[in-house]
Amino acid sequence: MSEKKKEEKPKMFRKDGGKPKGKKKLKFSEIISKIEEKITIPELVELSHGRAECPEFGNTSAPSLEYFETTSSFYCFKCQRGGNVINLFAIQNKLTFGEALFQLANKFKIQIEEQSKEEVELREKILKLYEILAEMCYRNLLDSKYYQFVMEKRGFSENVIKEYKIGYFNDSIKSYLL
Ligand SMILES: [Zn+2]
Repeated sequence: MSEKKKEEKPKMFRKDGGKPKGKKKLKFSEIISKIEEKITIPELVELSHGRAECPEFGNTSAPSLEYFETTSSFYCFKCQRGGNVINLFAIQNKLTFGEALFQLANKFKIQIEEQSKEEVELREKILKLYEILAEMCYRNLLDSKYYQFVMEKRGFSENVIKEYKIGYFNDSIKSYLL
């Protein structure tokens, strides 16, 4: 292998991460990856055949949490929450995603820049907005003539509409948002 080839090896194998020397600033996604390198979902829950108890409500007739090894993620059918190891840690410890991220980063001595903190807070605000929007659309559907349509023509039951917050987005929603 020539000298030049050696220099071109992927940056992940280089100690400095391929960046100029000096204090390295971690991007939001890099902080998440670093945490995921330190801790995994199977370390936080007791898995049996890829399933575990609900991290929020505990034991049920059958383990409701499903672990997906290929994507290092989970989904719980009982509380309908899912995500990565940080999401799981947040549920287990009743934290927001941001709080869980900071606690884990702290624990594993991963430095978070001010900029990243702002990014996390912004992300949480956006998620809240999505939740509000989903709720608004769901309520909008209940009040609209399409509710019967969705049940009869689409075959969704009342429970499914409620559980999955199936909604109706139209101009009346837009008028709230703009
Ligand atoms: Zn659950």
